[in-house]
Amino acid sequence: MFRAMSHMKEIEVAIIGAGPAGITAAIYAKRKGLNVEIFEAQIAGGTLNEAVLIENYPGFEPISGAKLAEKMISQVKKIGVTINESEMVVSAKKNSEWFELITDSNKTIKAKAVILASGAHRRRLKVAGTEKFEGKGISYCATCDGPLFEGKDVAIIGGGNSGAVNALYMKNIARTVYLIEYMPKLVCETAYIEQLKEKGVKIITSAEVVEFFGKDSLEGLKYKEHPSGEEKTIYVQGVFAYIGIEPHNEIAKMLGCELDEKGYVKVDLKMKTSLPGVFAAGDITGVFQQLIVACGQGAIAAESAYRHLQNMAK
Ligand SMILES: Cc1cc2nc3c(=O)[nH]c(=O)nc-3n(C[C@H](O)[C@H](O)[C@H](O)COP(=O)(O)OP(=O)(O)OC[C@H]3O[C@@H](n4cnc5c(N)ncnc54)[C@H](O)[C@@H]3O)c2cc1C
Repeated sequence: MFRAMSHMKEIEVAIIGAGPAGITAAIYAKRKGLNVEIFEAQIAGGTLNEAVLIENYPGFEPISGAKLAEKMISQVKKIGVTINESEMVVSAKKNSEWFELITDSNKTIKAKAVILASGAHRRRLKVAGTEKFEGKGISYCATCDGPLFEGKDVAIIGGGNSGAVNALYMKNIARTVYLIEYMPKLVCETAYIEQLKEKGVKIITSAEVVEFFGKDSLEGLKYKEHPSGEEKTIYVQGVFAYIGIEPHNEIAKMLGCELDEKGYVKVDLKMKTSLPGVFAAGDITGVFQQLIVACGQGAIAAESAYRHLQNMAK
């Protein structure tokens, strides 16, 4: 079933992405006796590594995302699954009954089934000055870069759940934390709004950020207040943007899987994409992008891949 030559591997199931969806799919596929490997562009754990605190995953009292990721990685490795880290899948095509994937280190993987679990990434800001200050004050990950702003003033852009959680996190580190939301009200869960107020996060709503400024690094931002149109300035050394996410759908596109209008991979209830032999799970499907959903979809995708391989063998 399995053959490995230099720079070429033949396996039954290739999973793209070692986030919660990919790891769960691998656990289920391996326990079905399948020859499965995960290919991960960066490090295993996916966006779970960025989550400050997970409070809604049953069985765990609040736990940090990184700690939960560590547990998942340890579990999948213990049962003998290989996670190929720093191995980004950069191209994919179908050749007769095989899918051929190529990674950025020029390895070729031939697989009978593919599970797309490549998640999604944070949407970049499109405000004047963004490019100049990315990495010089503007960040998309408070968990990663937050400690650089100890005792400083920062703004979180985006008042959804991610923005709220990260504003609360940054309040433990920074001196002043602003939370800026375009809509007239924060769109995060009510439970967070109480905590934000208690912790003294400065909430600014109906505000459209229009410019970042500074000399060598970020010194502040300007925003337009709606509906008055009045322009205001706040002085901050750090900005963390949580303004939505976009799917990592490049491989799905190469394979010709059908996407929805936002670019998410269309799946049925069995996590089958429009292309037989290709399944998708987790944030890439655009279905309620939460950890527990990613894990559930990963399990279903693996079961469907198993049945697909059984049918192929008949
Ligand atoms: C800050 C933050 C806080 C969160 N808090 C919570 C929470 O409290 N509760 C909750 O339920 N959910 C939370 N989430 C959401 C949760 O983390 C995601 O829903 C979950 O991680 C999705 O898992 P996934 O496996 O689909 O994708 P991801 O975790 O994004 O993993 C996808 C992986 O695929 C890799 N990849 C992408 N393209 C390629 C490629 N071409 N080749 C190889 N690898 C590739 C990526 O590097 C990544 O590691 C949070 C997310 C963030 C960012």
